Amino acid sequence: MLQAETVDRILRLRGGGLPVLSLYARFDPDDRRAFSSRVDEQLHEVRLLTKDSGLDRDARLSLRGDVARIEEAATQERLHPQAVAFFSCSGRGLFEEVELPRPVRDRNVIDETAWVRPLLAVLDEYHRCRVVVVDRGRGRFFDLYQDEMVECGAPLRGRTLRKPDYAAGMREYTTRNKAELLAERHYRAVAERLDEEARNHGFDIVAVGGHEHEVPEFLAHLPRSVRERVAGTFALHPREDDLGTIRGRAEAIVQRYEWAEERRLVAEAVERAAAGGLAVTGLRDCLWGASVAAVGQLLVQEGFEQAGAVCDADGYLTVEGGQCPICGRALRRVPDVLDELAQSVIDDGGGVEHVTTDTALREHVTAATLRFPLPPHPAG
Ligand SMILES: [Zn+2]
Repeated sequence: MLQAETVDRILRLRGGGLPVLSLYARFDPDDRRAFSSRVDEQLHEVRLLTKDSGLDRDARLSLRGDVARIEEAATQERLHPQAVAFFSCSGRGLFEEVELPRPVRDRNVIDETAWVRPLLAVLDEYHRCRVVVVDRGRGRFFDLYQDEMVECGAPLRGRTLRKPDYAAGMREYTTRNKAELLAERHYRAVAERLDEEARNHGFDIVAVGGHEHEVPEFLAHLPRSVRERVAGTFALHPREDDLGTIRGRAEAIVQRYEWAEERRLVAEAVERAAAGGLAVTGLRDCLWGASVAAVGQLLVQEGFEQAGAVCDADGYLTVEGGQCPICGRALRRVPDVLDELAQSVIDDGGGVEHVTTDTALREHVTAATLRFPLPPHPAG
Protein backbone atom coordinates (compact mmCIF):
# COMPACT_ATOMS: atom_id res chain seq x y z
CA MET A 1 0.00 0.00 0.00
CA LEU A 2 1.16 3.49 -0.86
CA GLN A 3 1.78 5.25 2.45
CA ALA A 4 1.60 9.02 2.88
CA GLU A 5 4.90 8.93 4.82
CA THR A 6 6.69 7.28 1.89
CA VAL A 7 5.38 9.96 -0.42
CA ASP A 8 6.57 12.67 1.99
CA ARG A 9 10.03 11.13 1.99
CA ILE A 10 10.11 11.04 -1.80
CA LEU A 11 8.89 14.65 -2.00
CA ARG A 12 11.90 15.66 0.06
CA LEU A 13 14.46 13.83 -2.11
CA ARG A 14 17.09 16.30 -3.32
CA GLY A 15 20.08 15.54 -5.51
CA GLY A 16 22.03 18.55 -4.24
CA GLY A 17 23.68 19.04 -7.63
CA LEU A 18 23.40 15.37 -8.65
CA PRO A 19 20.58 14.03 -10.82
CA VAL A 20 17.61 12.21 -9.29
CA LEU A 21 16.33 9.47 -11.59
CA SER A 22 12.59 8.78 -11.37
CA LEU A 23 11.34 5.77 -13.31
CA TYR A 24 7.78 4.47 -13.58
CA ALA A 25 6.92 1.18 -15.24
CA ARG A 26 3.68 -0.74 -15.58
CA PHE A 27 3.51 -4.16 -14.02
CA ASP A 28 1.38 -6.88 -15.54
CA PRO A 29 0.88 -9.71 -13.02
CA ASP A 30 0.09 -12.07 -15.91
CA ASP A 31 3.33 -11.30 -17.70
CA ARG A 32 5.97 -10.80 -15.07
CA ARG A 33 8.93 -10.95 -17.42
CA ALA A 34 7.57 -8.02 -19.42
CA PHE A 35 8.21 -5.80 -16.41
CA SER A 36 11.99 -6.14 -16.35
CA SER A 37 12.16 -5.56 -20.10
CA ARG A 38 10.00 -2.41 -19.76
CA VAL A 39 12.38 -1.18 -17.09
CA ASP A 40 15.40 -2.19 -19.13
CA GLU A 41 14.13 -0.34 -22.18
CA GLN A 42 13.83 2.84 -20.16
CA LEU A 43 17.22 2.36 -18.54
CA HIS A 44 18.74 2.17 -21.99
CA GLU A 45 18.24 5.95 -22.41
CA VAL A 46 19.86 6.53 -19.05
CA ARG A 47 22.83 4.30 -19.94
CA LEU A 48 23.45 6.47 -23.00
CA LEU A 49 23.56 9.52 -20.73
CA THR A 50 26.15 7.91 -18.48
CA LYS A 51 28.47 7.96 -21.50
CA ASP A 52 27.65 11.57 -22.38
CA SER A 53 30.74 13.67 -21.83
CA GLY A 54 28.52 16.77 -21.65
CA LEU A 55 27.51 15.61 -18.19
CA ASP A 56 29.98 15.99 -15.35
CA ARG A 57 31.70 12.95 -13.96
CA ASP A 58 29.92 12.79 -10.60
CA ALA A 59 26.53 12.99 -12.29
CA ARG A 60 27.48 10.18 -14.72
CA LEU A 61 28.77 7.98 -11.90
CA SER A 62 25.64 8.60 -9.86
CA LEU A 63 23.40 7.71 -12.81
CA ARG A 64 25.44 4.55 -13.41
CA GLY A 65 24.77 3.56 -9.81
CA ASP A 66 21.05 4.32 -10.30
CA VAL A 67 20.88 2.07 -13.35
CA ALA A 68 22.50 -0.83 -11.46
CA ARG A 69 20.23 -0.37 -8.45
CA ILE A 70 17.03 -0.24 -10.50
CA GLU A 71 18.10 -3.15 -12.71
CA GLU A 72 18.48 -5.25 -9.60
CA ALA A 73 15.23 -4.05 -8.03
CA ALA A 74 13.31 -4.84 -11.24
CA THR A 75 14.04 -8.55 -10.80
CA GLN A 76 12.47 -8.71 -7.30
CA GLU A 77 9.40 -10.85 -6.75
CA ARG A 78 6.22 -8.81 -6.50
CA LEU A 79 2.66 -9.71 -5.66
CA HIS A 80 0.20 -7.74 -7.74
CA PRO A 81 1.01 -4.06 -8.18
CA GLN A 82 -0.22 -2.34 -11.33
CA ALA A 83 2.95 -0.29 -11.63
CA VAL A 84 6.22 0.32 -9.80
CA ALA A 85 8.04 3.62 -9.35
CA PHE A 86 11.75 3.94 -8.54
CA PHE A 87 13.50 7.07 -7.31
CA SER A 88 17.27 6.98 -7.14
CA CYS A 89 20.22 9.27 -6.57
CA SER A 90 23.00 6.81 -5.83
CA GLY A 91 25.61 9.56 -5.46
CA ARG A 92 23.69 10.71 -2.37
CA GLY A 93 22.81 7.20 -1.22
CA LEU A 94 19.10 7.75 -1.91
CA PHE A 95 16.78 5.05 -3.20
CA GLU A 96 13.03 4.54 -2.89
CA GLU A 97 10.64 2.22 -4.65
CA VAL A 98 6.87 2.13 -4.41
CA GLU A 99 4.33 -0.26 -5.80
CA LEU A 100 1.28 1.49 -7.22
CA PRO A 101 -2.25 0.06 -7.22
CA ARG A 102 -3.04 1.82 -10.53
CA PRO A 103 -1.31 1.56 -13.89
CA VAL A 104 0.67 4.66 -14.88
CA ARG A 105 2.52 5.49 -18.08
CA ASP A 106 6.06 4.16 -18.49
CA ARG A 107 8.23 7.16 -18.01
CA ASN A 108 11.60 8.27 -16.69
CA VAL A 109 12.64 11.75 -15.69
CA ILE A 110 16.03 13.04 -14.64
CA ASP A 111 15.87 16.18 -12.55
CA GLU A 112 17.19 17.64 -9.29
CA THR A 113 14.10 16.43 -7.47
CA ALA A 114 11.96 13.32 -7.74
CA TRP A 115 9.20 13.40 -10.36
CA VAL A 116 6.20 12.74 -8.15
CA ARG A 117 3.11 13.79 -10.02
CA PRO A 118 1.93 10.29 -11.03
CA LEU A 119 2.44 9.23 -7.42
CA LEU A 120 0.40 12.13 -6.05
CA ALA A 121 -2.29 11.52 -8.63
CA VAL A 122 -2.63 7.91 -7.53
CA LEU A 123 -2.72 8.87 -3.87
CA ASP A 124 -5.32 11.63 -4.06
CA GLU A 125 -7.66 9.35 -5.95
CA TYR A 126 -8.19 7.42 -2.76
CA HIS A 127 -10.56 8.15 0.05
CA ARG A 128 -10.60 5.92 3.06
CA CYS A 129 -14.02 4.34 2.95
CA ARG A 130 -15.83 2.58 5.78
CA VAL A 131 -18.09 -0.02 4.25
CA VAL A 132 -20.97 -1.11 6.45
CA VAL A 133 -23.17 -4.05 5.62
CA VAL A 134 -26.16 -3.96 7.87
CA ASP A 135 -29.43 -5.76 8.41
CA ARG A 136 -31.84 -5.96 11.32
CA GLY A 137 -29.64 -8.39 13.23
CA ARG A 138 -26.08 -7.80 12.13
CA GLY A 139 -23.58 -5.12 11.19
CA ARG A 140 -20.29 -5.81 9.45
CA PHE A 141 -17.56 -3.19 9.02
CA PHE A 142 -14.88 -3.04 6.35
CA ASP A 143 -12.02 -0.68 5.64
CA LEU A 144 -11.62 0.00 1.91
CA TYR A 145 -8.53 1.93 0.93
CA GLN A 146 -6.35 1.82 -2.18
CA ASP A 147 -7.79 -1.36 -3.64
CA GLU A 148 -7.58 -3.26 -0.39
CA MET A 149 -10.60 -4.15 1.67
CA VAL A 150 -10.34 -5.76 5.09
CA GLU A 151 -13.00 -6.47 7.67
CA CYS A 152 -12.39 -4.36 10.74
CA GLY A 153 -13.47 -5.67 14.08
CA ALA A 154 -16.00 -8.37 14.82
CA PRO A 155 -19.51 -7.96 13.43
CA LEU A 156 -22.07 -6.39 15.73
CA ARG A 157 -24.95 -8.72 16.43
CA GLY A 158 -28.28 -7.52 17.67
CA ARG A 159 -30.99 -9.67 19.24
CA THR A 160 -33.74 -10.74 16.89
CA LEU A 161 -36.98 -12.58 17.51
CA ARG A 162 -37.04 -15.92 15.81
CA LYS A 163 -40.62 -16.39 14.70
CA PRO A 164 -42.63 -13.21 15.00
CA ASP A 165 -45.10 -14.38 12.35
CA TYR A 166 -46.43 -17.23 14.46
CA ALA A 167 -47.90 -14.78 16.88
CA ALA A 168 -51.53 -13.76 16.57
CA GLY A 169 -53.85 -10.98 17.63
CA MET A 170 -52.62 -8.77 20.42
CA ARG A 171 -49.65 -11.01 20.85
CA GLU A 172 -48.68 -10.39 17.24
CA TYR A 173 -48.86 -6.67 17.82
CA THR A 174 -46.49 -6.78 20.78
CA THR A 175 -44.17 -9.20 19.07
CA ARG A 176 -43.87 -6.95 16.05
CA ASN A 177 -43.27 -4.01 18.32
CA LYS A 178 -40.64 -5.91 20.16
CA ALA A 179 -38.95 -6.80 16.86
CA GLU A 180 -38.98 -3.13 15.87
CA LEU A 181 -37.47 -2.13 19.18
CA LEU A 182 -34.71 -4.72 18.88
CA ALA A 183 -33.94 -3.63 15.32
CA GLU A 184 -33.77 0.01 16.39
CA ARG A 185 -31.49 -0.81 19.27
CA HIS A 186 -29.22 -2.73 16.90
CA TYR A 187 -29.18 0.08 14.31
CA ARG A 188 -28.27 2.54 17.05
CA ALA A 189 -25.36 0.35 18.17
CA VAL A 190 -24.03 0.20 14.59
CA ALA A 191 -24.49 3.97 14.22
CA GLU A 192 -22.66 4.58 17.51
CA ARG A 193 -19.68 2.56 16.42
CA LEU A 194 -19.52 4.59 13.19
CA ASP A 195 -19.88 7.82 15.10
CA GLU A 196 -16.97 6.90 17.34
CA GLU A 197 -14.79 5.98 14.35
CA ALA A 198 -15.73 9.24 12.61
CA ARG A 199 -14.59 11.17 15.69
CA ASN A 200 -11.28 9.29 15.60
CA HIS A 201 -10.86 10.13 11.90
CA GLY A 202 -11.08 6.44 11.01
CA PHE A 203 -12.48 7.15 7.53
CA ASP A 204 -13.36 9.87 5.02
CA ILE A 205 -16.56 8.47 3.58
CA VAL A 206 -19.08 5.71 4.23
CA ALA A 207 -20.80 3.23 1.91
CA VAL A 208 -23.80 1.39 3.32
CA GLY A 209 -25.03 -1.91 1.95
CA GLY A 210 -27.94 -4.13 2.86
CA HIS A 211 -31.45 -5.19 1.93
CA GLU A 212 -33.16 -2.48 -0.06
CA HIS A 213 -35.89 -1.83 2.51
CA GLU A 214 -33.60 -2.00 5.54
CA VAL A 215 -30.90 0.44 4.43
CA PRO A 216 -33.20 3.51 4.72
CA GLU A 217 -34.29 2.32 8.20
CA PHE A 218 -30.66 2.22 9.24
CA LEU A 219 -29.74 5.56 7.66
CA ALA A 220 -32.41 7.26 9.75
CA HIS A 221 -30.43 6.31 12.87
CA LEU A 222 -27.14 7.89 11.80
CA PRO A 223 -25.94 10.96 13.65
CA ARG A 224 -25.12 13.96 11.47
CA SER A 225 -21.34 13.42 11.84
CA VAL A 226 -21.73 10.15 9.94
CA ARG A 227 -24.72 10.94 7.70
CA GLU A 228 -22.90 13.77 5.93
CA ARG A 229 -20.14 11.35 4.97
CA VAL A 230 -22.39 8.73 3.41
CA ALA A 231 -21.20 8.67 -0.20
CA GLY A 232 -23.75 6.12 -1.33
CA THR A 233 -25.71 2.98 -0.56
CA PHE A 234 -25.95 -0.36 -2.29
CA ALA A 235 -28.40 -3.21 -2.26
CA LEU A 236 -27.10 -6.56 -1.16
CA HIS A 237 -29.08 -9.76 -1.05
CA PRO A 238 -28.25 -12.42 1.53
CA ARG A 239 -26.81 -14.77 -1.11
CA GLU A 240 -24.41 -12.03 -2.24
CA ASP A 241 -22.83 -11.66 1.14
CA ASP A 242 -19.31 -12.37 -0.21
CA LEU A 243 -16.34 -10.06 0.00
CA GLY A 244 -15.92 -9.71 -3.77
CA THR A 245 -19.47 -8.46 -4.30
CA ILE A 246 -19.37 -6.11 -1.32
CA ARG A 247 -16.07 -4.70 -2.44
CA GLY A 248 -17.15 -4.23 -6.06
CA ARG A 249 -20.29 -2.29 -5.08
CA ALA A 250 -18.40 -0.17 -2.55
CA GLU A 251 -15.63 0.63 -5.04
CA ALA A 252 -18.20 1.87 -7.56
CA ILE A 253 -19.52 4.27 -4.90
CA VAL A 254 -16.03 5.54 -4.09
CA GLN A 255 -15.30 6.10 -7.79
CA ARG A 256 -18.53 8.08 -8.31
CA TYR A 257 -17.74 10.08 -5.19
CA GLU A 258 -14.26 10.94 -6.48
CA TRP A 259 -15.58 12.09 -9.87
CA ALA A 260 -18.33 14.15 -8.24
CA GLU A 261 -15.76 15.76 -5.98
CA GLU A 262 -13.53 16.60 -8.94
CA ARG A 263 -16.44 18.16 -10.82
CA ARG A 264 -17.47 20.18 -7.78
CA LEU A 265 -13.94 21.48 -7.10
CA VAL A 266 -13.41 22.49 -10.74
CA ALA A 267 -16.82 24.18 -10.98
CA GLU A 268 -16.21 26.13 -7.76
CA ALA A 269 -12.75 27.33 -8.82
CA VAL A 270 -13.83 28.25 -12.36
CA GLU A 271 -16.91 30.14 -11.13
CA ARG A 272 -14.98 31.95 -8.46
CA ALA A 273 -12.28 32.97 -10.95
CA ALA A 274 -14.90 34.19 -13.46
CA ALA A 275 -16.51 36.29 -10.72
CA GLY A 276 -13.16 37.91 -9.92
CA GLY A 277 -12.88 36.11 -6.55
CA LEU A 278 -9.93 34.34 -4.96
CA ALA A 279 -9.25 31.83 -7.71
CA VAL A 280 -7.41 31.65 -11.02
CA THR A 281 -7.55 29.41 -14.07
CA GLY A 282 -4.81 28.65 -16.58
CA LEU A 283 -1.18 27.76 -16.21
CA ARG A 284 0.33 31.24 -16.19
CA ASP A 285 -1.65 32.51 -13.19
CA CYS A 286 -1.40 29.21 -11.34
CA LEU A 287 2.39 29.18 -11.74
CA TRP A 288 2.58 32.75 -10.51
CA GLY A 289 0.22 31.95 -7.63
CA ALA A 290 2.46 29.07 -6.54
CA SER A 291 5.58 31.25 -6.97
CA VAL A 292 4.23 33.61 -4.28
CA ALA A 293 2.78 30.78 -2.10
CA ALA A 294 -0.79 32.00 -2.65
CA VAL A 295 -2.36 28.70 -3.75
CA GLY A 296 -4.81 27.06 -1.37
CA GLN A 297 -5.85 24.22 -3.62
CA LEU A 298 -4.45 23.37 -7.00
CA LEU A 299 -6.44 21.42 -9.57
CA VAL A 300 -4.41 19.75 -12.34
CA GLN A 301 -5.72 17.95 -15.37
CA GLU A 302 -4.35 14.43 -15.27
CA GLY A 303 -2.30 13.39 -18.28
CA PHE A 304 -0.90 16.81 -19.22
CA GLU A 305 2.79 17.65 -19.14
CA GLN A 306 4.46 20.94 -19.87
CA ALA A 307 8.16 21.80 -20.07
CA GLY A 308 9.16 24.91 -18.18
CA ALA A 309 11.67 26.46 -15.83
CA VAL A 310 12.16 27.20 -12.16
CA CYS A 311 14.28 29.67 -10.20
CA ASP A 312 16.21 27.80 -7.52
CA ALA A 313 16.71 31.01 -5.53
CA ASP A 314 13.11 32.16 -5.01
CA GLY A 315 10.91 29.40 -6.46
CA TYR A 316 9.65 31.40 -9.44
CA LEU A 317 7.89 29.06 -11.90
CA THR A 318 7.31 29.66 -15.58
CA VAL A 319 6.81 27.89 -18.89
CA GLU A 320 9.42 30.17 -20.50
CA GLY A 321 13.17 29.84 -20.04
CA GLY A 322 15.72 32.61 -19.69
CA GLN A 323 16.17 34.75 -16.61
CA CYS A 324 14.16 35.05 -13.44
CA PRO A 325 12.20 38.33 -13.53
CA ILE A 326 12.41 38.52 -9.74
CA CYS A 327 16.12 38.03 -9.06
CA GLY A 328 17.72 38.04 -12.52
CA ARG A 329 19.38 34.60 -12.12
CA ALA A 330 19.32 32.05 -14.92
CA LEU A 331 16.32 29.72 -14.63
CA ARG A 332 16.75 25.94 -14.44
CA ARG A 333 14.89 24.11 -17.21
CA VAL A 334 12.58 21.33 -16.00
CA PRO A 335 10.94 18.58 -18.06
CA ASP A 336 7.51 19.05 -16.45
CA VAL A 337 6.77 22.33 -14.75
CA LEU A 338 3.38 20.97 -13.61
CA ASP A 339 5.33 18.64 -11.34
CA GLU A 340 7.28 21.55 -9.86
CA LEU A 341 3.98 23.38 -9.50
CA ALA A 342 2.37 20.54 -7.54
CA GLN A 343 5.42 20.17 -5.30
CA SER A 344 5.59 23.89 -4.68
CA VAL A 345 1.93 24.00 -3.62
CA ILE A 346 2.43 21.05 -1.25
CA ASP A 347 5.61 22.61 0.19
CA ASP A 348 3.63 25.75 0.99
CA GLY A 349 0.90 23.79 2.77
CA GLY A 350 -1.66 23.75 -0.05
CA GLY A 351 -3.52 20.79 -1.51
CA VAL A 352 -3.35 19.21 -4.96
CA GLU A 353 -6.16 17.40 -6.72
CA HIS A 354 -5.55 15.58 -9.98
CA VAL A 355 -8.65 15.69 -12.10
CA THR A 356 -9.27 12.57 -14.15
CA THR A 357 -12.85 13.07 -15.23
CA ASP A 358 -14.17 15.35 -17.96
CA THR A 359 -14.50 18.95 -16.73
CA ALA A 360 -13.73 22.53 -17.82
CA LEU A 361 -10.17 21.80 -16.70
CA ARG A 362 -9.49 20.06 -20.02
CA GLU A 363 -9.47 23.57 -21.47
CA HIS A 364 -7.63 25.37 -18.62
CA VAL A 365 -5.21 22.53 -17.67
CA THR A 366 -4.87 24.03 -14.17
CA ALA A 367 -7.00 26.08 -11.79
CA ALA A 368 -6.39 27.13 -8.21
CA THR A 369 -8.12 28.70 -5.26
CA LEU A 370 -6.03 31.45 -3.66
CA ARG A 371 -5.32 32.43 -0.08
CA PHE A 372 -4.81 36.08 -1.05
CA PRO A 373 -5.03 38.14 -4.26
CA LEU A 374 -2.04 37.78 -6.57
CA PRO A 375 0.40 40.65 -6.83
CA PRO A 376 1.02 41.86 -10.40
CA HIS A 377 3.05 39.43 -12.50
CA PRO A 378 6.70 40.59 -12.68
CA ALA A 379 6.96 39.77 -16.38
CA GLY A 380 3.99 42.07 -17.04
ZN1 LIG B 1 14.67 34.16 -9.05
